[in-house]
Amino acid sequence: MPEPLPSFRYHPDPLGTGSIKADADIPCLSCSRLRGYIYTGSVWTEKNFILEDHLCPWCIADGSAAKRFAATFNYTGTLDGISAAAREEIETRTPGFIAWQQEIWLGCCGDGAAFLGLAGAQELREKFPGALDSVKQVLRDEFDLSGAELTEFLDSLSTESDPSAYIFRCQHCHKYLSYVDQA
Ligand SMILES: [Zn+2]
Ligand SMILES: [Zn+2]
Repeated sequence: MPEPLPSFRYHPDPLGTGSIKADADIPCLSCSRLRGYIYTGSVWTEKNFILEDHLCPWCIADGSAAKRFAATFNYTGTLDGISAAAREEIETRTPGFIAWQQEIWLGCCGDGAAFLGLAGAQELREKFPGALDSVKQVLRDEFDLSGAELTEFLDSLSTESDPSAYIFRCQHCHKYLSYVDQA
């Protein structure tokens, strides 16, 4: 039996989002152990270590993978008004995800938000109905869409092909936040 996964404040369900997958055969390049789970999201290092699909969630959670490889897993450069501690936790101790363009972390109430996952039209209806208004707002404000065009774009959102929506939720006011990107 694998031990329970570490908990990640800013990415509460990494198995659900697909950023961590069960894999019995890939050893972690940080701790050299076969731990039953492997991280599948983005990794940036200055020395171009190939770490994608080769780190365990425990070495992300305790910061050892980030320290050993000078690696970061998320980009918070567009996120203003959060503490240095929150920034550090999101960048170096939180599993990231894979987007079409540079992944962006969203925040609210002076803190990073929790990443809930990718969404297409179907996921917005079934998993994240509370995020629908946020995605529509993004399509109005950032994609300049309205009416039938907005509905058509919304219906074309997918997790398998672009465009995709990325859903977050504030840990303080519980508001849904989102952004949309395409290849
Ligand atoms: Zn490890
Ligand atoms: Zn908030």
